[in-house]
Amino acid sequence: MSKMDKWIDLRSDTVTQPSDAMRAVMAAAEVGDDVYADDPSVNRLQEYAAELFGFEAGLFAPSGTQTNLIALMTHCGRGDEYLVGQEAHTYKYEGGGAAVLGSIQPQPIANQPDGSIALGDIEAYIKPDDMHFARTRLLALENTIGGRVLGQDYVAAATALAHGKGLATHLDGARICNAAVKQGISLRAAVAGFDTVSVCLSKGLGAPVGSVLLGPKAFIEQGKRWRKMLGGGMRQAGIIAAAGQYALENNVQRLADDHDNAAELARGLSRIEQLKVGTPQTNIFWMDIPVAACEPLRQALARERIRASIGPKTRLVTHLDVSAADVARTVEVFTAFFAGWRA
Ligand SMILES: *Cc1c(COP(=O)(O)O)cnc(C)c1O
Repeated sequence: MSKMDKWIDLRSDTVTQPSDAMRAVMAAAEVGDDVYADDPSVNRLQEYAAELFGFEAGLFAPSGTQTNLIALMTHCGRGDEYLVGQEAHTYKYEGGGAAVLGSIQPQPIANQPDGSIALGDIEAYIKPDDMHFARTRLLALENTIGGRVLGQDYVAAATALAHGKGLATHLDGARICNAAVKQGISLRAAVAGFDTVSVCLSKGLGAPVGSVLLGPKAFIEQGKRWRKMLGGGMRQAGIIAAAGQYALENNVQRLADDHDNAAELARGLSRIEQLKVGTPQTNIFWMDIPVAACEPLRQALARERIRASIGPKTRLVTHLDVSAADVARTVEVFTAFFAGWRA
């Protein structure tokens, strides 16, 4: 795509294009058949990610939906349940996979405004050992959740509570790197307390495909069976694993730029009186748009080559293909639209 054709795309951080440097690494990647564990680039990524986050082993899979599902199916068996936030990806946005494919019952619990699940709720929803109930096995948290950061104190308390009650803990860390960078802590510190973690390489980190599941060696070995059954056993996957490796090596600290850009975008938009704009903690924030403005705004943005999921509750997301200049341009286009718009 030429620069002239460039769209400013604020729908998600999944839309990033692999950079020239990332593509070069992909083209040069050594590969093998990963179902035989023969792919050196996949093995290197799995070991590198495990070391980086402080786990024994890693498993590369095509998507975060799959790494989460593998984790749920490895932690829980038929008739077991996991405690999960009502707004969590592993409950709401994965097609009911745990129930459909794993015979695992989710126990959704309301998320607090800060994205956490109240400790009292976690405790209250753990079922007694009684034949009437599913067996509560796992607490699944998400960080960041809707762009909000779960702080270290909360994570430590929630995981300790779960462990104290005999539950395992899983983190959907699709955007855990955003949470770590925002808090200025190491990746290891950000995942402390969790038995397993899923990390997306294809979100803000900018890889085209892939997620890694991290955990104890025996857990990852078991998970590998589920991955094969779910259709995630890939062959010369080193081509894409190399992109993930590049992303982890080069694109973590720069997430701070995305957070700055989101803050600047929110600041600019909050000056428009018709909008009610939330304050971003990381690279994602929400704003309210008058219903009647949505359709004409969509058209106005399209004319200016800006993509956003415009609705009464609009989510805006910054990422490595959104520059400070793109933010300024977006604020300009929104401002001009609302200057001329009356309900
Ligand atoms: C994107 C995402 C996932 C995984 O999504 P895939 O598109 O399947 O890779 C999991 N959890 C959260 C919170 C996400 O945002």
